[in-house]
Amino acid sequence: MSLTTLALTAELPELDESLTWSQLEAWAVAMREELPAAALAAALEDLQDKLIDRVCGPKWLPVRDLPAPFGCPGCGVMSDFARKGKRTRPRRFDTAAGIVRIQLANVGCRSCGRVFAPLLLMLDLSGKRRTDRLMVELAELATQMSFARAGATAAAFGVPGSAGRAHSAVADLAPLLDGIGCADSPHAPGRADVVVLDGTGMRAGRRRLGVTCNIALGVTGRTGPRRRRQATTALLGLTLDQPWAAMTAQLRDLEPPAVVVVDGELAITRLAESVWPDVPIQRCWWHLPRALRWALYADKAPHPWANAKRAELTALLHRVARERLTHTQALDAYDAFAATVTAEGHHAARELLAGARDQVFTCLRPDVRRRLAHLGGPELGSGVLERVMRELNARTDIGGSRWSTEGLRDLITIKLARMTNHPAWTTLRQTVSPPSAIAFKIATANFNAA
Ligand SMILES: [Zn+2]
Repeated sequence: MSLTTLALTAELPELDESLTWSQLEAWAVAMREELPAAALAAALEDLQDKLIDRVCGPKWLPVRDLPAPFGCPGCGVMSDFARKGKRTRPRRFDTAAGIVRIQLANVGCRSCGRVFAPLLLMLDLSGKRRTDRLMVELAELATQMSFARAGATAAAFGVPGSAGRAHSAVADLAPLLDGIGCADSPHAPGRADVVVLDGTGMRAGRRRLGVTCNIALGVTGRTGPRRRRQATTALLGLTLDQPWAAMTAQLRDLEPPAVVVVDGELAITRLAESVWPDVPIQRCWWHLPRALRWALYADKAPHPWANAKRAELTALLHRVARERLTHTQALDAYDAFAATVTAEGHHAARELLAGARDQVFTCLRPDVRRRLAHLGGPELGSGVLERVMRELNARTDIGGSRWSTEGLRDLITIKLARMTNHPAWTTLRQTVSPPSAIAFKIATANFNAA
């Protein structure tokens, strides 16, 4: 254990009417931006000096054959190094604590002649200009706001950030999140009782209509008070610009869920049936009223009436959940509603409601209900999905910009991993930002002593 002391000096003006609170606060904020990085740089140089003394002997009295806690990167020997002075230009690192500049000290290997900086070697920083923690923090910001804002927000807190840095952080981080999109990885979640499959269009690539982002979300639990229940979710599958069938490989190794929730698109239902032939299918309660609105649009139904019907269906589904209707009671209510639409002769809407009938209340079947009892009410996945889709679109629809397919995939991978606390994400985060175990003390008595 060694002790490092840093002295802070500041030329404070007298306390008279020309000194304002804002000036004092500005001084403190300026220190917030520089102090942590300066402390880190000073501590690093201190550690480095002590290491060199230990390995090469005192400065004017070199000692031969001393052992070292590192191996020569040229030949691997772990002893007999000579001082080779300090580099003239300081080395810059971008860190989560700010920009750190240190004067690196070199040593030379007496057996092969290689000259290198042991500090970089010991801290595994060789070739690095930016720390992993900074990468993770910038990428995390960039999943919540535009790259430009993420960079500016980081910079406002003394963290080296810019639009370009935020962008490259996302590109560098996404490939490290292994276990997303490969179910056989040790980091992948293994099972969920409810699996929700859904896709959304995004403005990316060259095609006018963009690309489809397909997601498989698992609902693994619900916590919190009755009216504000929060679902815990797991990211099970993710593809961009690929057909639904491409997700088969990601879902195949999962244990079959109790129910799979689909939006009614044929390709999704086919995927569900091919991966889990015995698992009952539930129509998504969030999508159905939206689909009804589209069908009534195709039927050229009067808009106010169509909007009212959509609201009526939403209310019906809510009532089914709230009043805990049985499967039969729910179907009776549904049929009565469908009759009001059919009576007006709307063909597309009638087909939609008839096609969905068998799957709308799967979650109310006694066998399914039993298996899902621990998840609470039957509003399966719909709310979860709605929230996820809204958040994804809020981030990807900024300013009408068009993404590259790769760039969008990287961003969505990180955003979903973060939103669902994917094990690959939480592991990486814990690795780069462990709790600090190095004690420090601020001695206010000496604050202005110099
Ligand atoms: Zn060597």
